[in-house]
Amino acid sequence: MPHLHSTRRRRALPALVLALLVLALVGCGREGSPPVKGPRADQLPTYPVNRNFRLPDSPTWQKAKRRGHLIIGVKEDQPYLGERDPASGRYSGFDIEIARMMSAALGFPPSTIEFKTIASANRETALQNGQIDFYVGTYTINDKRKKLVGFAGPYYMAGQSLLVRADENDIKGPQDLAGKRVCSAAGSTPYQRIQAEYPKAVLVAYDTYSVCVDNLLTYQVDAVTTDDAILLGYAAKVPEELKVVGKPFSQEPYGIGVPRGDNALRFALDDALAAAEKNGDWKKAYNATLGLSGVPAPTPPPIDRYPAT
Ligand code: GLU
Repeated sequence: MPHLHSTRRRRALPALVLALLVLALVGCGREGSPPVKGPRADQLPTYPVNRNFRLPDSPTWQKAKRRGHLIIGVKEDQPYLGERDPASGRYSGFDIEIARMMSAALGFPPSTIEFKTIASANRETALQNGQIDFYVGTYTINDKRKKLVGFAGPYYMAGQSLLVRADENDIKGPQDLAGKRVCSAAGSTPYQRIQAEYPKAVLVAYDTYSVCVDNLLTYQVDAVTTDDAILLGYAAKVPEELKVVGKPFSQEPYGIGVPRGDNALRFALDDALAAAEKNGDWKKAYNATLGLSGVPAPTPPPIDRYPAT
């Protein structure tokens, strides 16, 4: 397993080593480090563009067509899922592949996609005020959010889990969090679950999970909590420093967020997901991205085509 700064790690300079690790994790100072195993552009599938596609009943699709490109909300700091290479500006990961697949089905070639990074807490407003056309970024479908936005999918099932430092022996599950500093993203379902179900934990919130991971590596917090799919990506980057512990303790079905009421767009995305699952594109995309974190391709969860809103 490749890892970062292997020759420096064992020196008696923990603060410097941690600073270097943090830099590596946020994507700076990578020069000279062994390459991190990640999606490779030349191994990614391509998706045939549905050139004659029309969706007259979708105001979102119509607006994008007039504009000439799609604006898709994503994450940029979640390895294997949605990650932006700071040097090239290129986005990669499973969510990005789902976004490209969906765009092709809607008649938009990859060159006409603009990715926009939107943090967990800002997704609903971004969809409500038309800042993005749809959102693909570890976005859990639930009834509370369905009152604010629409969801196509789900296209993947994750579960809440815990990330700790490799030398941590006390935290094995959420029951061990009393008095511990636990970091998560503001506005996320994992944050809300700890707040509601494990009130003895000392919750710390940031906009992004990568800031939580920096805080974990520098001993500012004792654990990071969010979906297993996200945490496995951080652990894979520095496997000698971090580990995911225990069993997932929730179900997080990932959906594609759309503006609420744009049922035509939602159903078109449901159809496109079903087709991609059937023709093998979903599996190819998974294997080229999230599958690199070591979990073989699961069977995608059934699509929840709920009635028009
Ligand atoms: N899936 C969870 C959520 O939608 C956690 C991941 C995230 O914040 O994107 O809140």
